[in-house]
Amino acid sequence: MNEEIKQKLCHELGTEQVLFEEPMKRHTTFRIGGPAEVFVMPRSVEDVAKTLMICKEENIPYFILGNGSNLLVSDRGYRGVILQMDRNIGTVAVDGTEIRASAGALLSTIAVAARRASLTGFEFAGGIPGTLGGAVVMNAGAYGGEMKDVLKEVTVMDQDGKIRVIPAEKLEMGYRTSIVKSAGYIVLEAVISLKEGDIEEIKALTRKLSEQRSEKQPLEYPSAGSTFKRPEGYFAGKLIMDSGLRGYRVGGAQVSEKHCGFVINAGDATAEDVCNLMKHVRETVYAKFGVTLEPEVKFLGEFDGR
Ligand SMILES: Cc1cc2nc3c(=O)[nH]c(=O)nc-3n(C[C@H](O)[C@H](O)[C@H](O)COP(=O)(O)OP(=O)(O)OC[C@H]3O[C@@H](n4cnc5c(N)ncnc54)[C@H](O)[C@@H]3O)c2cc1C
Repeated sequence: MNEEIKQKLCHELGTEQVLFEEPMKRHTTFRIGGPAEVFVMPRSVEDVAKTLMICKEENIPYFILGNGSNLLVSDRGYRGVILQMDRNIGTVAVDGTEIRASAGALLSTIAVAARRASLTGFEFAGGIPGTLGGAVVMNAGAYGGEMKDVLKEVTVMDQDGKIRVIPAEKLEMGYRTSIVKSAGYIVLEAVISLKEGDIEEIKALTRKLSEQRSEKQPLEYPSAGSTFKRPEGYFAGKLIMDSGLRGYRVGGAQVSEKHCGFVINAGDATAEDVCNLMKHVRETVYAKFGVTLEPEVKFLGEFDGR
């Protein structure tokens, strides 16, 4: 990207909102990833629109980042603009039984707001370490709940910079998928619809789910959560365990001993290590059970091992 475009971004957004060659390992829960050529931290929807328009005009690739909790970024990083929809765009407002929150709000923050307002239905999401935007894209879910059960409508910016409000049922939300990505939408905010509940019951359920998570998941290591989607009729973690891959390592990447469905960064793992480990896991499980594991984790940038 030429200097002129970089200066244009700084001029439009303010120098402090634009970083160059920013290590992506600082912005992913895997703690892995090379430099982003340009890393933009918009403070408002207008900043998002300005960045999008510059990228379009100058024909520069861009990528929308939430909390980076479902992401593997290449060791070579990303040539283009990363737009981080994070803390700067993170308001949460409760109105009756509905919560309107910005895309960058963390699910944990929304869950706390719901609990304080005695609203039930969002307890499942409180322990998922992503933003609302990422959760809409992924139709994030846990313990029998998923975003599609609680989403009422989503405000997006389309590829032309136009703002549209879309009812949740039009987003084709399925198992860890929606049309947000393929339609090229940027999620700006969403309305979550919950029910009045009993605060003590909400607290008890929250505590129970949080205990289950720390008991079963390797939260002490960097990871991106479940590495593979659940294949129909199976559990990815069990297939991996039954393939004899518990603790299997490639470089610093390892199949978690605590939960085989997680690939963890056991220390200085590279993205290539994770990628090669995932490939080995897929091949081994396929050879043993004839089941194809589809990655749940999203890849960004170039990989040799894919
Ligand atoms: C320890 C751990 C436990 C986890 N447990 C669960 C779980 O129980 N259930 C579950 O579903 N997931 C789980 N995850 C995975 C992850 O937290 C979810 O997929 C989460 O929804 C990702 O949100 P994010 O903001 O981090 O998105 P990112 O990882 O930053 O991005 C994910 C995708 O969403 C896109 N995106 C992000 N924000 C926007 C936006 N505003 N507009 C358009 N596109 C956007 C990105 O471009 C990317 O394609 C876990 C992860 C970890 C590390």
